[in-house]
Amino acid sequence: MMNRRQFVCVAAASPVLLGRAPKALAATYDLIIRGGRVIDPSVGIDAIRDVAVAGGKIAAVEANIAGDATETIDARNKIVTPGLIDIHTHAGRSKEGPPMCLRDGVTGWVDAGSGGVDNIDAVAAVAREAPQIGRCLVNIARTGVAPSGELHDLNRASVDLARGAISRNRDVVIGVKARLSANVTGPNDLEALRRAQTAAGDLPVMIHVGQNYSPLRALLALLKRGDIVTHIYAPGPHSLLDERGRLFPEVMAARRRGIVFDFGNGVVDHFDWDTVEKATKQDFWPDTFSTDWNVMSRTTGVVDLPNVMSKFIMFGMPLNQIVAAATTNAARVFPSFDDRGTLNVGAPADVAIMELREGTFEFLDNYKGTRVGRQRLFPIATVLAGKSVPRT
Ligand SMILES: [Zn+2]
Repeated sequence: MMNRRQFVCVAAASPVLLGRAPKALAATYDLIIRGGRVIDPSVGIDAIRDVAVAGGKIAAVEANIAGDATETIDARNKIVTPGLIDIHTHAGRSKEGPPMCLRDGVTGWVDAGSGGVDNIDAVAAVAREAPQIGRCLVNIARTGVAPSGELHDLNRASVDLARGAISRNRDVVIGVKARLSANVTGPNDLEALRRAQTAAGDLPVMIHVGQNYSPLRALLALLKRGDIVTHIYAPGPHSLLDERGRLFPEVMAARRRGIVFDFGNGVVDHFDWDTVEKATKQDFWPDTFSTDWNVMSRTTGVVDLPNVMSKFIMFGMPLNQIVAAATTNAARVFPSFDDRGTLNVGAPADVAIMELREGTFEFLDNYKGTRVGRQRLFPIATVLAGKSVPRT
């Protein structure tokens, strides 16, 4: 279905205008992004295309789109993808977060467990007021993330209270989060996960793993189709690799039954290069990328979602799969993003424009380990609901 608006052209005699034309001129489109390398795995495109937008929706993705537009973005030598979706952030902690990550190309985010029953309403309020789609997962611990570990006392994990938090924020709370590292739970990890599942019902549960008290396979056994494991390359004890570095067969089996495996960059103890290398050599790649981002991430090894994606260019993941993980795959995880992660005609016009620069780029893991890559994606511009986002 075409959404192209058929305007009578009242400006036929005026000269060709580049950039932003006066609003009084009725253009064919609101916006055309011209000449970029469009990578949209949802429809199998990787080619030089123009992208036209009208009425906040994608109107056309074609070579050399004719007609004029109120605004034109020159995307030559840039990469144009569906707006990026970051499924593990802490963007809901303050109202400054969402507009910051929007400038990185992130047109949809999930705050993963910043808030529990006691403080989820504030996170939900940030999500509702965000410029882009913001959603949150309620932490099964009533306190939300606590630096000393929120699940050492299981009295903090109340199924009934969590259900209440979900039902009073059903517009933005779309699942449950449980942080299950031993330093968060002590021996309570399996029971905390059972409670998270009961509270979630049919909604997804995201578990944070790494240095777990229980073996990873014991946690995986409690997950249902559509649940998410974040920090998949966290080193041991109890990582996804056995003591000889081989992937546990239960990990691939979990993927086959529909469990989603998310990267989750973070800052401390969530991945090291050695584990990424061993797992990816056994063909275990992330389904989705996420940053575990917060407003301080500019100065950590996270920087932004395009930087996190670039780490996997270094490991040889094909660029179209990398884009898929940050767009269409991420959109499939939560029904809220059903119409996102695509530049299909008629979809909301959320677009990320990035530059793939060649050079020498140093990337960081969570243990001060550095690796040098030859390519890095940089965010250049974001289009949200058909409007380009100011860079300042
Ligand atoms: Zn997190």
